[in-house]
Amino acid sequence: MTSELHPFLVEVMTLRGGKDVLECYQCGTCSASCPALQDMLHGPRRLMYMIQNGMEKEVLSSPDIWRCVSCYSCMSRCPRGIEITVLLSELRRLAIQKGYVDDNEAQFGQVFTVTLAQHGRMFEPELLTRYYLRTWDVKGMLGMVVPGLKMLSKGKVAFTPQNISTAQELRDAGVVPKVDSFPRRKLNDLLVAMMIAVLGVFAAIGRLFSGKKKEAFHG
Ligand code: SF4
Ligand code: SF4
Repeated sequence: MTSELHPFLVEVMTLRGGKDVLECYQCGTCSASCPALQDMLHGPRRLMYMIQNGMEKEVLSSPDIWRCVSCYSCMSRCPRGIEITVLLSELRRLAIQKGYVDDNEAQFGQVFTVTLAQHGRMFEPELLTRYYLRTWDVKGMLGMVVPGLKMLSKGKVAFTPQNISTAQELRDAGVVPKVDSFPRRKLNDLLVAMMIAVLGVFAAIGRLFSGKKKEAFHG
């Protein structure tokens, strides 16, 4: 039976959340429940239709798969029990694997995962540095300098990464999307390490300064 189907549809049906895509009867409950629909090109209902019709390029290069916020509304309300949220996550992985990623949301999703895989939790200065290095968005990067410094100075963002002891377990679980070419990845890692070192020096100076102020206060 599946040999008569489009190869992309067959491939999607082997993914997590994809086995029931042919059950979709286009009721539209998913799109009507989706809080991110206004930022999408198609929405989950039409994505299901496109998958059923084997439209690989349109599905995997769609910004929609990156604009999904994984709220599970569509999945919990689908009358056919299709695991849409899970499937969208798998489609993101497939899009990276097949080289369809050329969208800034997709780039952001990847640097988010790379940063998470490094530390086990988010470290915003590294996240943004990686993102701007990847997209070469100099204007965007300069625009973040003032708000970033304000957040750092008010303690809203940490100067140094707060690693968890189980970061390796996240990497072992496959949260390690190394999609950059080798020289570029190494260059980005080097620049990020330099940025973390500079922030670490600022943090040490800040701690020294606040310690001296406390000493002066206590006489
Ligand atoms: S809610 Fe389910 S059946 Fe209805 S359109 Fe969405 S995926 Fe298809
Ligand atoms: S999980 Fe994604 S696609 Fe589904 S309703 Fe939430 S944002 Fe929309």
